[in-house]
Amino acid sequence: PELDTDATLDQPLAVPRNVPAELIGREVHRRRTFGIISHPDAGKTTLTEKLLLFSGAIQLAGTVKARKSGRHATSDWMEIEKQRGISVASSVMQFEYRDHVVNLLDTPGHQDFSEDTYRVLTAVDSALMVIDAAKGVETQTIKLLNVCRMRSTPIITFMNKMDRETRDPLELLDELESVLDIQCAPVTWPIGMGKSFRGVYHLLRDEILLFAPGDARADQEFEVIKGINNPRLEAMFPREIEQLKMEVELVHGASHPFDLQAFLAGTQTPVFFGSAINNFGVREILNALLDWAPSPRPRDASVRSVEPSEAPFSGFVFKIQANMDPAHRDRIAFLRVCSGRFERGMKIKHLRLNREIKVSNVVTFMAASREQVEEAYAGDIIGLPNHGNMQIGDSFSEGELLQFTGIPYFAPDFFRSVRIRNPLKIKQLHKGLQQLGEEGAVQVFKPVHSGDLILGAVGVLQFEVVASRLLNEYGVDAVFEGTSISSARWVTSEDKRAIADFEKSAAGHNVAYDAAGNMAYLASSSVNLRHTQERWPLLTFHATREHA
Ligand code: GDP
Repeated sequence: PELDTDATLDQPLAVPRNVPAELIGREVHRRRTFGIISHPDAGKTTLTEKLLLFSGAIQLAGTVKARKSGRHATSDWMEIEKQRGISVASSVMQFEYRDHVVNLLDTPGHQDFSEDTYRVLTAVDSALMVIDAAKGVETQTIKLLNVCRMRSTPIITFMNKMDRETRDPLELLDELESVLDIQCAPVTWPIGMGKSFRGVYHLLRDEILLFAPGDARADQEFEVIKGINNPRLEAMFPREIEQLKMEVELVHGASHPFDLQAFLAGTQTPVFFGSAINNFGVREILNALLDWAPSPRPRDASVRSVEPSEAPFSGFVFKIQANMDPAHRDRIAFLRVCSGRFERGMKIKHLRLNREIKVSNVVTFMAASREQVEEAYAGDIIGLPNHGNMQIGDSFSEGELLQFTGIPYFAPDFFRSVRIRNPLKIKQLHKGLQQLGEEGAVQVFKPVHSGDLILGAVGVLQFEVVASRLLNEYGVDAVFEGTSISSARWVTSEDKRAIADFEKSAAGHNVAYDAAGNMAYLASSSVNLRHTQERWPLLTFHATREHA
């Protein structure tokens, strides 16, 4: 049966596809898909805006900021986002720079961030880590870096806010190496900081980039002085240049030289210093991204690995966003293209449902607008209208049975039990939670021995989002209450008997099933979890599970 996701538009059917391999290869080669990871306030929004400005994708500063505070029309879709002035959902920005197509995937930066943040990182090929040089490595940085590490994602580091009093740069690198367990290869090195910030020294090019404050022009070029021994420098700032020479010697001796292979393997990060708000050091980041970061790489699709330059189209859904347009209450499935060419109006196969669908009204995400997509290649993100048939982790192809892997569900850190004020609404509650669960807005657990529903999240804000959406979209006034659960683990075993025994034992009171039917153990404390694991050696307790 054919499922037309858009009944109103009469799109042409797929034309016979005859896509030259070199064309696809060329398009893949020039694509870069990355996300920015940072702790709130490190400067992600500012840097995003500068990247867009420098690429010419937007003309005026302030666009991204406006979006962040929820005033931007296209993302102004959720009450809670407006109320809190934060971006609950992440979005995608595409722009061109130096004949490359760059896809920047935004991740929610609020500290109550959700699983969305994690999953967006499964759709990128590299990441840009922004660190506030006055603060160093912060909690969110650590969490996000660990997610990147699951796929060995290459990471470029930007030490931001050098125009402020910061910590000692050598100390910052030390901290990065020890706390994040990643080798640092400084590419630029700061000359002074705060009021006496003079610029950066490019260690690979032996050039000094002079700092000038202000953000007046988007394409601001900073003066470059060739050679660390250039007498002009002595004349300009003798004290700082002495200090720089000493530090550079230290850096050459104590840190790692940049190694492209180690970067691509995710074991080393090139480090740049700068000041996003002053546009300083931003172009260097953009260039590093194009010159060093990988173009889309092969992806594991269970039955085989899929090459990005293969002619047949394939991809997977990594995120679902609801109510982008409040008037239509529609949902958009964000699909990362993994191979081939997506063309407007083509038919693709929804592999979980084993159905062919004709997708029209597919959108692409430009920096300033949302447009009908004409074509897309590996690395690109397209938005499919979703009337409830698509779930996170769903794979699509031109027919071949693929299942892309690596879209994780993380064991929640926060739990609530759900009650409703009006018992007649129980059906709507279940329906709402089912759909919100499929979207990945929250995880839903059904304990074996009780009728309650338990919600799990990795950030407490998720509960507010769910409560607000239950009310607005399903008319359910739900009350969330604290529980005694402290952590959850998915339980598997080769031994079916052990699983059955486990469910029947005293521990069974803490056993629940998630929305996809996987068994989970809801532990009351870390001690309880450890004891249970020790008592049931035939069972494996997982902190993550993949989309099945
Ligand atoms: P986000 O929460 O990571 O998106 O951070 P923002 O981009 O919103 O920046 C947080 C604050 O730091 C804002 O007040 C910015 O103006 C400020 N900021 C960003 N970059 C710089 C910088 O290079 N220097 C200074 N002094 N402040 C900056």
